[in-house]
Formats: sequence, C-alpha cells, structure tokens
Amino acid sequence: MIPDNYRHKGLRKKLVNEIAAKGILNEDVLAAIEAIPRHNFLDPAFLEYAYQDNAFPIGSGQTISQPYTVAFQTELLNPQPRQKILEIGTGSGYQACVLLEMKAKVFSVERQRNLYRKTKQLLEELRYKAKLFYGDGYKGLPTFAPFDGIIITAGAPFIPEALKEQLKIGGRMVIPQGVDGKQTMKLVRKISATEFEITEHGAFSFVPMLENKATD
Ligand code: SAH
Repeated sequence: MIPDNYRHKGLRKKLVNEIAAKGILNEDVLAAIEAIPRHNFLDPAFLEYAYQDNAFPIGSGQTISQPYTVAFQTELLNPQPRQKILEIGTGSGYQACVLLEMKAKVFSVERQRNLYRKTKQLLEELRYKAKLFYGDGYKGLPTFAPFDGIIITAGAPFIPEALKEQLKIGGRMVIPQGVDGKQTMKLVRKISATEFEITEHGAFSFVPMLENKATD
C-alpha cells in the first residue's frame, strides 16, 4: 500500500473538478472519488497516471475503468446508503470502493482468479469491506439476491436473464451493452416481476464480459 499524501490529494481534487466539468453532478459520487487513493489500484510503476481521467491496464489483459466512466455509471445507478448493490467485473476494485464510500453494501464478482485474489488483498489492506466473489457474472449471485442495484463494468453482448431476475422490483441495473469495444450505456429499471423500462445513455468502450471460459 502506498500512503496517501498531499500531492495525491491535490491531484484528486483536480480530477474531481475535471469530472464535474464533464457533467457529473452527484456530490456523493464526486466525494467518493475525492476520498479514494486511486494510486493504489494501479501498478506502482504507473503512479503518475493514477489521477488522469483515463482507463489503464491492471494486468491479466484487464483495465481499471476511466474515472469519468465510473462516475457516470455510478450516477446512473444512484445507490442509496445501505442498499445492496451487485457489481459484475470487480477488476481493480476501484468501482466497488466508490460504491462503499457511498455507504452501499457491495457484492462484486470477478471471473479471473488472479485478479480476484489480488483485489481481495488490496481491499483488505485499504479496509474497504466489499464482499468479493470469484465466479461467472452471467449467473449473478442468486444466494444474495435480490439486489437494489446491479452495475456491470464489462461490455455485455446482451442483458443476462439471471441478472434481471436478481434485481428488486423498483431496482436499477446499469449495463454497457454491445460487442467489439462499442457499447451503449443502458439503464434497466424493473417495473414489475416481468416488466422492464430501458433507457439509453450514450456510447462507451469496455473490455468484453466473457462467458464460459476457464481462467487459470
Ligand atoms: N470495475 C472494474 C473495471 C473492470 S474491467 C474496476 O473498477 O477496476 C472488467 C472486468 O470484468 C475485468 O476484470 C474482467 O475480468 C471482468 N469480467 C469479464 N467477464 C466477466 C464475467 N462473465 N463475470 C465476472 N467478471 C467478468
């Protein structure tokens, strides 16, 4: 763990201003980004990049999402304190920490075992209490369902049925849908057990949400 210092704090303040200027209004989202030492979620060799508004490789062919994208998805999800949120694609754990800072109960699933292990250790060191799981996000976490919110942080070719089922009525799912690094951000609201209202919120680029592949 790399201790937080005034330089990091200054860079974070700048990052928050940049994200706010790009249109993020939710004060709780901005406060979360200002609080989290993002430099711990990247390889130490890339410390300087931690507070730039860009996606970045985190090993195993995966990326930590661009801070603006994290903020955008979180704002759409609009998590409330004590709500149960399911994240698909733990990756570096950064998005999970944003949700924790907003006082949500966070359940997050990752399909790469090495990333799952590394991130579990990091969050323990940073004292962030997310419940992390190694598994296939397409299946969700039926044991802990239903969830108030579900956030998918990989590009999904379709909206998985299991995740629709595991959403509470009145709940929100944020999912970048599409293939080949070209996704449309969708907000899926569950109106009743069988009815969903879907709205579209612009173009984004994500690593793919993969199905049925062994990881180690
Ligand atoms: N939320 C992350 C960004 C993750 S990048 C962060 O804040 O850093 C997308 C992640 O989704 C990758 O780690 C990838 O391994 C994972 N992923 C891809 N397909 C998945 C699946 N079917 N189930 C769970 N995780 C998956």
